[in-house]
Amino acid sequence: MKYKRILLKLSGEALMGQQQYGIDAVRLMQYAEEIKSAAATGTQVAVVIGGGNIFRGVQAAALGLDRVQGDYMGMLATVINSMALQSALEKLEVSTRLLSGLTIQRVCEPYIRRRAVRHLEKGRVVIFGAGIGSPYFTTDSAASLRAIEIEADVVLKGTRVDGIYTADPEKDPSAVRYPEITFEEVMEKNLNVMDMTAFTLCKENNLPIIVFDMNREGNLQKLIDGETVGTLVTMSGGNLSAAVDPKHSSLQPSLDTPTEQA
Ligand code: UDP
Repeated sequence: MKYKRILLKLSGEALMGQQQYGIDAVRLMQYAEEIKSAAATGTQVAVVIGGGNIFRGVQAAALGLDRVQGDYMGMLATVINSMALQSALEKLEVSTRLLSGLTIQRVCEPYIRRRAVRHLEKGRVVIFGAGIGSPYFTTDSAASLRAIEIEADVVLKGTRVDGIYTADPEKDPSAVRYPEITFEEVMEKNLNVMDMTAFTLCKENNLPIIVFDMNREGNLQKLIDGETVGTLVTMSGGNLSAAVDPKHSSLQPSLDTPTEQA
């Protein structure tokens, strides 16, 4: 087992599948299956899901609404997605807990760090809903913050692109994927990995990030098994064991072998 504890960040938008809005049932079950296999290896799995498939705070302004109100609406959207994922996982007989940054006690537990860690130790998949519970943040920031709090070994950012590229691969066909990159390089090259708040939290706390394609079946499992998938962001550029904090003692140094470009 490569990781003792991971935090998986999924975007709300990814849950839409081919739809324009809401939750695609096939995609949802696919994610649940992937998470089930990851948890079955014994790796402790925490998940943060975005809400972009339902509502984002920035949309509030376009509707003539208050931004802060919009952000709370966005946070509630993440709770809806989290509940959907919880239900999908339970359908697959995976034990789960949903902990929310906003108190909604009929449907989820309030976020309490020690409780989250206890659930993880008991092998439950922990889903963090409502972001960090404050406006003007994103679920990427929630993913970074919660990962630091629960002492996850890594943040796995599941996207529809298979890593970090020299340019946007959907616009520039000559774009090349980095197998590994440092936090500094990401900043120097102005690459879009996460929003700055989220990224800085990882950088300052020496928490590695792996950006990978969550829509490719089996990718999450490959990562858990220690295969090189996507792009690894660390302090030292790939040497995961040297990069991590001593508290991340479960990491094995097997990701330090450079791989070919995609
Ligand atoms: N949000 C917030 N605080 C948080 C997390 C989320 O205010 O800690 C709001 C914000 O408006 C955001 C929305 O919830 O736009 C949905 O989250 P996000 O945009 O991160 O979702 P994703 O892009 O991952 O689907």
